[in-house]
Formats: sequence, structure tokens, C-alpha cells
Amino acid sequence: MHENLHESYPTTPTTGATTTQTGTPVASDAHSLTAGADGATALHDRYLVEKLAQFNRERIPERIVHAKGGGAFGELVVTEDVSAYTRAAVFQPGATSEMLLRFSSVAGEMGSPDTWRDVRGFALKFYTTEGNLDIVGNNTPVFFIRDAIKFPDFIHSQKRLPGSGLRDADMQWDFWTLSPESAHQVTYLMGDRGLPKSWRHVNGYGSHTYQWINAEGERFWVKYHFKARQGVENIDGIEAEAIAGADADFYRRDLYEAIERGEFPTWDVKVQVMPYADAAGYRFNPFDLTKVWPHSDYPLIPVGHFTLNRNPQNHFAEIEQAAFSPANQVPGTDISPDKMLMARVFSYPDAQRYRVGTNYNQIPVNAPHAAPVHNYSQDGAQRHGFNAPTAPVYAPNSFGGPVADPTRAGEGSWESDGELVRAAATLHAEDSDFGQAGTLYREVFDDAARERFLTTITGAVGGVTRPDIRERAIAYWAAVDAELGAALRAALTAGFDEAAEAAVEPVGTPS
Ligand code: NDP
Repeated sequence: MHENLHESYPTTPTTGATTTQTGTPVASDAHSLTAGADGATALHDRYLVEKLAQFNRERIPERIVHAKGGGAFGELVVTEDVSAYTRAAVFQPGATSEMLLRFSSVAGEMGSPDTWRDVRGFALKFYTTEGNLDIVGNNTPVFFIRDAIKFPDFIHSQKRLPGSGLRDADMQWDFWTLSPESAHQVTYLMGDRGLPKSWRHVNGYGSHTYQWINAEGERFWVKYHFKARQGVENIDGIEAEAIAGADADFYRRDLYEAIERGEFPTWDVKVQVMPYADAAGYRFNPFDLTKVWPHSDYPLIPVGHFTLNRNPQNHFAEIEQAAFSPANQVPGTDISPDKMLMARVFSYPDAQRYRVGTNYNQIPVNAPHAAPVHNYSQDGAQRHGFNAPTAPVYAPNSFGGPVADPTRAGEGSWESDGELVRAAATLHAEDSDFGQAGTLYREVFDDAARERFLTTITGAVGGVTRPDIRERAIAYWAAVDAELGAALRAALTAGFDEAAEAAVEPVGTPS
């Protein structure tokens, strides 16, 4: 299957005469056509004009988030039997699927250093026999907000001031402290996992709650977990800062070189599965992206593993143009009433239409490899795949064109399940913005990790200049853990700011 993907790319030969884009040999690679040796440059030097015009168009808009990244291709192997939960061909015992994984940071621009403190994107595309399945997750199981209407504001607060074009701790902490649902993710981010040693050493999470549907039509809520066999390893702030200065592409280089050496990283694929009806009464709202389902409630169920074993041949064609979307589901998988997820299924394809173009799904890296595309969409900029000349161009038709599969009607739908959706939207028994953040800080971090955490947040909050925002930040951490809040206040008022600022790391989401 790998070969198919390669063959679908027209590649430029490395020998032979230089030609124009339309294949005509050119007279010179080094000299423009001029009127005499030192005369004016001729506008009719078609190769010069074509070369400059093409150069001016080399860049496409970078992603507004997750701009800096890298990735590789690999293979998913299903070793367990989870057919009781899903009928998706990709997850049936023994199935293998070609796949792509793109890692990224979130807030930094295209050239930003890999080792700024940030959440890492973990975007998966599986080229399945039933169409592409994308799981567009992160290296954390939760997120900063639970409703997408806040997303542009959140990202603006992490990016740059309109006037100076600089990042700003005031706006970052202003947003976070005015959005207390961010506390769990910010605790995760400011903890050791905010600075991974490499992309090979992060776990991935689908983060959202998705849906699985089995052959009998029975529905389950699922969360995806991808556990690095390499182990989770992190670096500290001092090391991250040194690397950021010395090698901005540290993670991209590490992944590429490891795969070139034949060291293929592997992740175990696991899921948490919740019976459909449990959603209404579970102690946490199961569709709230700021919460996990504790492992003790819903243990991890093994599915299989995937291994990255092939670098892209062309970073731009295969990684920059890669277009992921949680809208890409397959029979036997679906979305849930998670408010962030429902918005992402609009937002991601919309971003790719803007960034790559209307026909972005025809680009080899995005096109399904193992499943045919059959529909009545046509034309649009940069179209190169097309239907047969005699194919009908409308539905319904009497000419044997594609018809929908009525057995899929209603599969995975919860929209009409009013009681469940209403129950899920309300606060559940143990829902609080700070509860799970406190669990992470007190019960998952050890003493040394808590000490590093205090140093990190002291440095970060120390960068806030407005007293009211700084005060709110102290209250925010006191709500996560009262002792932590007191320790932060003491550290800030003891003039610890200077020491902490000296140790401040570069951060994608600035501190
Ligand atoms: P558990 O003790 O069952 O799970 C704790 C989990 O925390 C581990 O399995 C590990 O997840 C993760 N973890 C370990 N060290 C760190 C760290 N330094 N920073 C962040 N995460 C770490 O407890 P619960 O399931 O009740 O969860 C407690 C807290 O752990 C949650 O509030 C959440 O913040 C965090 N967590 C929970 C996950 C879940 O799905 N239940 C997943 C990840 C984090 P893993 O092996 O997946 O890396």
C-alpha cells in the first residue's frame, strides 16, 4: 500500500535538461534574457517570469493553530477483538491500515521552536477500506475550553498583541482566569508533560468522546488513548530553552532521523468504553472536553498498536498539505454531543478549504487509498480527478450512478435522543472546573513534580503585570489546591519573581 501512495505523486526527475513547467527545455539556469550583455531584462523571458511567479506562490496560509509540525506514515495493526463495540473494518481483529501521524505545537507559528512549552497536536489519519478515519487529538486528554464559541478568543489570547505583535502574559492569564474550565488543561500544561523530550515520547489522546457502533447497531461512547512504547519522557525548562535557541526543529529532526535509522516508534492503541445509557447519569458530564473519565471508572481496553515506519518524501506535499478533520468518520464510528467536537467537524474542513483549496481531498495525502470515492460533487479550483465521461452528474438518476446506503440511516445519531442530550448538557454530580485539576496535582504528580510545578507557575504568573490579573491567577491556583495557592502567593511576594523569571522557559503559550 505504501507503494501506491508513492506512485500517486508525480515526481520531478533528478537528471536531464531543466524545463519550464510545461516541459520545454530552457536556455539558461543562471542568466535572464537581456537586451545585450548588460541591457534591460526582457519581460518576454518566459522562464524567468514563470520561475519568479511560481516562487511568489510557494506558500499557502499556515494553519492558524498547529502551524509548526512534522509527521510520518505507518501502519495500524489490530491485535485484539473489539467487535463487540464497533463494526468499523479498521478495528476488526487482524486488520491492518496504512496511516499518517502529524505532531505539532499549538500556538507557535510555522518557524517557532519545537521546545516551547505547549500542548502537542497528535493528528491521525487511517486510510481504511471504508474511507478515511481521522482522530485529531493532542498529547493531553483534555482541553482549555468546553465550548467552541470561545475558541477564537482563546487562541487570540495565546498569540500576539495587535500593536506590538508580541506575546503577552497578561492576556494569557486574563483569559485563563476568566475561563476557570481551563484549570485542568493548564495544570497539565504547566506540569512536566508540557515539555516533552521528543514527539516519540508523548502519549496521544483523541480527547473528545466519540461513538462506536457494533454490528447489531448497539452504541457506545469511547475515548481513544495512544500510549508510547518508548515511554513518556520530558525535559526541564532550562534544557528546553537551550534547545529552543540551538535547534528550533529539534522534535522534527528527532522523528525524521529516528525513522531514517530504522528506529520505528510504536504506540499502543487503547479505548475507554462507556455504555450509551451511562452518559445520562455518570458522575462527570462525559461530553465535557475539560474532563477525563477516570481509569478506575472505565479501564483501558487494548485494541492494537501502530508503528511509524516511513518518512514523507516531500514535507510540503505530504505534511503541510495534510488535512485532518474529526468529520472523517467511518461506518461503526461517529461523533458525540461534545460541543467542541460538533464545532470542529465544521471548522476543520472549512480551514482546509481556505488553506489548501476546494479540492484538498484529491491531494494524494488526503485522498482515501483503500476506498473509492463515489459522489456527485464536481469541478472547483485545481480539480484533477474526475468522474467517467458517461457518469451521471445528479441524483436521483436512471443511469446506475452511486446510491446512498439506507442501512446507515440513523447510525450513531443521538440528535433526537432529547433526554440523553439534555441530561448530558447539565452539570453532573461531580462536575467542577477545579476538581480534576486538583486530582492531577495532588494524586498524580509526586513531590518533586509538585515542586517543579510551583517553579513553573511562579515564573509564568510572575510575568503578569496587571495586579488584578495576578491576584486572579493566585485565586485560580488556590481553587485547584489551597496550599498551592498559598505557596504561589508566598513565592511571588517573597520576591521570588526574579529568580523564577531567570529560570523562565520559552513557552508557546507564553508565561
Ligand atoms: P489514574 O491514576 O487512573 O490515572 C492517572 C493517569 O495520569 C495516568 O494513567 C497517566 O495517564 C496520567 N499521568 C501520569 N503522570 C502524569 C503527569 N505528570 N501529567 C499528566 N498526566 C499524568 O487517575 P484518574 O484516571 O482518576 O486521573 C487522574 C488525573 O490524571 C486526571 O484528572 C487527569 O488529569 C490525569 N489523566 C487521566 C487520564 C485518564 O484517561 N483517566 C489520562 C491522562 C491523564 P496516561 O497513562 O494516559 O498517560
